[in-house]
Amino acid sequence: MSETEPTGNGWRRPRVGHFIGGDWTESASGRSYLNRSPWSGETLSEVAAGDVEDADRAVTAAHSAFDGWAGTLPHRRQRVFLRAADILERRHDEVLAALAAETGCGRVFGGVQLDFATRLLRQAAQLAYRPAGELLPSDVEGTRAMAVRRPVGVVAAIAPWNASLTLAGRAIIGPLALGNTVVLKPSEDAPHTGGALWAEILHEAGLPAGALNVVTHAPGEAGGIGDALLSSPLVKRINFTGSTATGRRLAEKAGRHLKRMVLQLSGQNPLIVAGDADLDYAVNAATYGAFVHQGQVCMCARRVYVERPLAEEFAERFAARAAALPTGDPSDPATVVGPVINEWALALLDRRVREAVELGARVLAGGVPRPPCYPATVLADVPDEAEIAQGETFGPVVVLETVDSAERAVARANTSDLGLVASVITGDRSRGLRLASSLDVGIVHVNDQPVNDEPHMPFGGVKDTGWGRFGLEFAAEEFCELQWITVRDQDRDFPL
Ligand code: ADP
Repeated sequence: MSETEPTGNGWRRPRVGHFIGGDWTESASGRSYLNRSPWSGETLSEVAAGDVEDADRAVTAAHSAFDGWAGTLPHRRQRVFLRAADILERRHDEVLAALAAETGCGRVFGGVQLDFATRLLRQAAQLAYRPAGELLPSDVEGTRAMAVRRPVGVVAAIAPWNASLTLAGRAIIGPLALGNTVVLKPSEDAPHTGGALWAEILHEAGLPAGALNVVTHAPGEAGGIGDALLSSPLVKRINFTGSTATGRRLAEKAGRHLKRMVLQLSGQNPLIVAGDADLDYAVNAATYGAFVHQGQVCMCARRVYVERPLAEEFAERFAARAAALPTGDPSDPATVVGPVINEWALALLDRRVREAVELGARVLAGGVPRPPCYPATVLADVPDEAEIAQGETFGPVVVLETVDSAERAVARANTSDLGLVASVITGDRSRGLRLASSLDVGIVHVNDQPVNDEPHMPFGGVKDTGWGRFGLEFAAEEFCELQWITVRDQDRDFPL
């Protein structure tokens, strides 16, 4: 069940159960945990602490629902997604408040998430009418050959907390719209906005029982459910959004079961400012790109490279902007930097910034925790061996580096093991395009900052950022099987 009780601040406190076969249900074990707000510490919801048994029930329900949903007429399938978009719009203010309470997500990024999720649903509605394959010429006389795209069956979706609404949404909506059924495992830090909420909305919109199932679990207990989803022969595909460390472990296990995955993992995204860039624009772009949602977006700029002629002035203005960003309560519309997700994340940021400083980095802005927030922080002269210069540090900390040329910045950026997104700001668009094509990443934005997504675009990375692409136009490649069918309208000769 997902019961709600008014708490007087616009946000209703849910009791979050699993959603299996169209019903809200407790864990088989009867266990639950309390999910708390990262800002206030208040208990937001009591959440079912699921396990293997619950995952198995969800997979069975999804499997049972598959034939019915895959065979549902296109206009009925389409209507579910159009209705769901209307419901999400109707619940706009409440969802915004829930995102702030559950994940510390402020008004700006909350708005980005709601806008994306609504467009995702409306665009997904048209997938029901997507051509289901192609006729292919054959060299065998009297043969009609075709490539027929058909849904795979049960898709498992493992989603993170940070952009809970959109990242759970894109993990389930494309697969569902193509006729698959889904088991969603949200993050323990976002069981409502990244899980139960989607079940409520799609259920109200008329999605048949069992087409979407949601299984939640207590902190630190994802492994059992993850293993159950990976090893079940009924689960045909997995999509995972999260850290490279977890994704690598899951991919190793998936390999054992020869199971295909879409993996969207960590990024260490460069923003390159060329010497001919408009300084004000570049500072504004870097401020948004590094600090939106307190740097807890996989696309956030982690490294800003500035060509030498602009470097000093850029550093001064960028640091001043960062230092002035309002920090605090995510439900206050003026707040830009809200709380980080939990104490562990705060401690990690603090440790990595201190380590960089010990190794010689200069703090141009921020650098001292303000629990439960970490302020927008700009570091310069960070040595390559510092942890913060490597891998992904999820939070509002950015490394600033002066370079002799943007080409040098590209070479520096390409040494990273990660390759999600990059951006380049320059007055010369042709040069921007040349730089874009030499960047070893899945996505590049010229004259923008890196935090961008649209539901139909090919979203994903290269190298240790994973493989496969989210995006409705590309979902069919990931979540459908292509079947080659031939029909002979005359007998043929056999050599034996
Ligand atoms: P983040 O640092 O963003 O939380 P994680 O990779 O730890 O990144 O988490 C992303 C998602 O992966 C969450 O839903 C989390 O519960 C899940 N997860 C973590 N460990 C496992 C695991 N062993 N098996 C399956 N899912 C896991």
